[in-house]
Amino acid sequence: MAHALTPPTEVAPPRAEAASRPATRGVPVYEAVQRQFEKAANLIQLDPAVRKILSAPMNEIVVHFPVRMDDGRVELLTGYRVQHNDALGPFKGGLRFHPALELDEVKALAAWMTWKSAIARLPFGGAKGGVQIDPARYSHTELERITRRFCYALGNNIGPEYDIPAPDVNTNAQIMAWFLDTYQALQPPQDRQRHMHVVTGKPVDSGGSLSRDKATGQGIVYLIERWANERRSGLSRATFTVQGYGNVGSWAARLLARHGAKLVAAEDVTGAIANPQGLDTEALAVHVRANGGVVGFARAVDHETFFSTPADIFVPAALANQITADTAPMLNVRLVAEGANGPTDPEGDEVLRRKGIDVIPDVVCNAGGVIVSYFEWLQNKQSEYWALEEVDRKLHAKITAAYDRTRDTARQRRVDWRTAAYIVALSHLETVYKQRGIFP
Ligand code: NAD
Repeated sequence: MAHALTPPTEVAPPRAEAASRPATRGVPVYEAVQRQFEKAANLIQLDPAVRKILSAPMNEIVVHFPVRMDDGRVELLTGYRVQHNDALGPFKGGLRFHPALELDEVKALAAWMTWKSAIARLPFGGAKGGVQIDPARYSHTELERITRRFCYALGNNIGPEYDIPAPDVNTNAQIMAWFLDTYQALQPPQDRQRHMHVVTGKPVDSGGSLSRDKATGQGIVYLIERWANERRSGLSRATFTVQGYGNVGSWAARLLARHGAKLVAAEDVTGAIANPQGLDTEALAVHVRANGGVVGFARAVDHETFFSTPADIFVPAALANQITADTAPMLNVRLVAEGANGPTDPEGDEVLRRKGIDVIPDVVCNAGGVIVSYFEWLQNKQSEYWALEEVDRKLHAKITAAYDRTRDTARQRRVDWRTAAYIVALSHLETVYKQRGIFP
């Protein structure tokens, strides 16, 4: 199919899968999220009925859908949408394109979204989804048809007041624009304009919010600043490393650099680089856009050297299960600020605790994305556009409140911050279930 319109934003450049990286071992992510849940639930003696409800997702949707390729062949692709819980509001969570995506991982990611929304006190539940593909294998037009056909396959399982997707790994504002357009095209003409908020993370010209592209990275940096201020050590002389230089990692790195902090090593799917004198974060972002990865920008180092690089802060912003019993012992940092979802498995967590490394857990640290998605959703519902400063000010207020809730709970209960974050989420959900009861 020929496309007359030139897309306003490009889909992320193809990335090769990590062939040279040692396979990450670690606790399977769904088991990890269940273990974290059980630990917090036991500590607060969570109501048994609420515990049963929250221990499994509400809906698990698997779709197989055909897509015609540029050469005329048809591929049958598999897509997922897991809706974990909607006690607090409509299901909300990203869509990712990844060749290793499978149902259990999506279930874990959906549960994390429930906890995240609850901790940030957003009127959203948790969901996650995606398509099991390596996007590097597909052309721009094929990715468009995959996105549109996936949206069609999901049908009424999504909706602006029911389940609202957003970008995640290997998806971006362009994918959201195609998703919106397809969803709108499937509505009766007189209803179309009521559905702008069916996805968030759209391009700003197509109803997106200012600041959404940087929101997750911005939220991480607001919390690192708060952590540093509480320890009376500013960021101007801090050093940091980052894993993943996509949306989250590159924004976190560039915003940290604006505070004077120095990036000393970076790793992504193509390999790792380091420079103790500091890497230019803006130039690195340009390099990644042009070349599909960090490799080639500075001296190459191996995975172990990357993990052992001494720094004040490590921002994992790639995939799950990166900080494990194998890699955590190598870390030589004061803080792990989790940009990715599930970057630390329970065994890695134990090592970090023993080493006295602070952790701002994912469900708090990367909540900036869903917080600004909520602002985008509100703006669309009210046909408003907020100024960038307004979005950033409101993001700061919401995410630092989530941080403070977690820190205070950790102190009161004498538990680590991840357990504290889960306690904040589960207590809120328990209150809501107790107030409403269980139908019938
Ligand atoms: P992205 O696709 O823009 O970037 C992903 C990055 O991870 C790329 O730099 C890629 O090279 C790197 N990567 C992939 N496989 C890797 C491997 N095996 N080893 C090292 N690096 C690898 O995705 P993103 O949106 O930046 O998401 C990154 C993480 O942040 C994910 O865990 C995602 O769930 C989480 N997250 C994203 C958002 C958001 O708003 N985009 C919000 C909250 C959490």
